[in-house]
Amino acid sequence: MSIGRGVIRGHWITLRRFLLTFARDVRDGLALTRRGGGPQALDLFRSPARGEERVVVQDEHTDGLFTVEYPDERLPVYERFRMLPVLVYDDEDGNVRCTSCNICAKVCPPQCIWMVQAKSPKGTVVPLPEDFFIDMDVCMNCGLCAEYCPFDAVKMDQNFELANSERHQTHVFSLQDLLVSSAYYAQTHPEAWSSDDETSERAKVAKKKDQRLRKALGVPAQS
Ligand code: SF4
Ligand code: SF4
Repeated sequence: MSIGRGVIRGHWITLRRFLLTFARDVRDGLALTRRGGGPQALDLFRSPARGEERVVVQDEHTDGLFTVEYPDERLPVYERFRMLPVLVYDDEDGNVRCTSCNICAKVCPPQCIWMVQAKSPKGTVVPLPEDFFIDMDVCMNCGLCAEYCPFDAVKMDQNFELANSERHQTHVFSLQDLLVSSAYYAQTHPEAWSSDDETSERAKVAKKKDQRLRKALGVPAQS
């Protein structure tokens, strides 16, 4: 008997919320007007202009009867939202920040990072990755690689739209798939980019990396 009452109560809460939301939309003059647009296979409202409406990007203040009509509409993600790691190269000189030190691979809990270190023509080790791989299906988005990287080279990206129909190869990202510019990172993480911590870290690692590269390639240090 008590189970039956619980079910009825749950349904009542849902119905009440639905009716209140509907009433609020009518009160605010939104009623059954679809907000947002974009092409849609099935047009339940038989609107002649269906698919030509302006695409609306909803924000955290948007509410009402209609839910976010993904993928025509998207809620903006928070800056700290993290999905998968990327490798940053600097726009000024085009240099990859990664020195192939292997620390991220060691700290990665599911061990889904591996890399090939670059070699000079003489066969000596150069602090750059020749290739770099992350198995995105194994990555658990913990962000430890980005935390531990001593060269500020790994950052967590916000892109979550990576679905496809191939299970084995497509999600093993190589260096070319992983590279993003510092301008891209600055744009997706404006607060972090301009913070004192990251500004001083950038200056520090640029100098450190330059010294290591020069040493490996036998180029004299700049005075
Ligand atoms: S920890 Fe940073 S510098 Fe070291 S291999 Fe990983 S990404 Fe490259
Ligand atoms: S986010 Fe975590 S699981 Fe994914 S590659 Fe980095 S350390 Fe590994």
